[in-house]
Amino acid sequence: MTTVQLSLLPAADAELDLSSYAFIVLSTSAGKDSQAMMDLVVKRARAEGVAERLVAVHANLGRVEWPGTMDLAAEQASCYGLRFEVVRAGGGDLLERVEQRGMWPDAARRWCTSDLKRGPIYTLFTRLAAEWRDGGGTGPCRILSCMGLRAEESPARRKCPVFDFDRRASNGRRHVDTWLPIHSLTTAEVWQVIDRSGVSHHPAYDAGLPRLSCSFCILGSRSALVRAAQLRPDLASEYVRVEIATGHRFRQDLSIADVVAAAKTDVPVRIADWVA
Ligand code: SF4
Repeated sequence: MTTVQLSLLPAADAELDLSSYAFIVLSTSAGKDSQAMMDLVVKRARAEGVAERLVAVHANLGRVEWPGTMDLAAEQASCYGLRFEVVRAGGGDLLERVEQRGMWPDAARRWCTSDLKRGPIYTLFTRLAAEWRDGGGTGPCRILSCMGLRAEESPARRKCPVFDFDRRASNGRRHVDTWLPIHSLTTAEVWQVIDRSGVSHHPAYDAGLPRLSCSFCILGSRSALVRAAQLRPDLASEYVRVEIATGHRFRQDLSIADVVAAAKTDVPVRIADWVA
């Protein structure tokens, strides 16, 4: 088995000058990819003497994320000695928003991600830029936003640039670049990084789930949703209630009501990865 080294960060990333950023923000869902990304970026930041600029941020999703997720994100950040921030969207959680809108998000309209994760993380960027100005910084505050997206996850993610200027997150007060440090890593390599780190991972993986974040993700495979319904029957019932209240299925090809019915009989032997 090959050993995952810090050098597995893509060669082009070696040219990235971490010291040119006032803050290096690590977005963490507490999931495996966030965890591996955190491990590798912390090692590199330490090697470059800029570890004090690291900030871990968790966008808390409330009841729809797996129990214990926020505490685990805090624990993982603490293991690396990182400043840890939690952000949360105002205006209701995912289910409340679905009820307000009368529709579910889908692969083409992932407003769940923009409303519940990206938007709240921008509020942290605003705070960090203000801190930086208060500390005497002038001009736009340079922020490097690190995420655990990987090419292997989906065709869309394969196309994501490893390094990019984030025009949407930037404004006159902050310049934000995005970096996907583990874009080229395989799932096996991700687990290797985690195993070597000795830092805890979420028990949902041990229950067979391939990804974390929302227990019932609109992009989840049927088998993963069925497993989630077996593990969280109360939350599954809430999703069914919202399907009935809105008159819309969770997904065009699948209703949570069907998932709940299957959860009572199915014993999935292999849980497939996400569908998009
Ligand atoms: S995990 Fe899935 S449902 Fe939850 S915010 Fe992300 S894409 Fe949307």
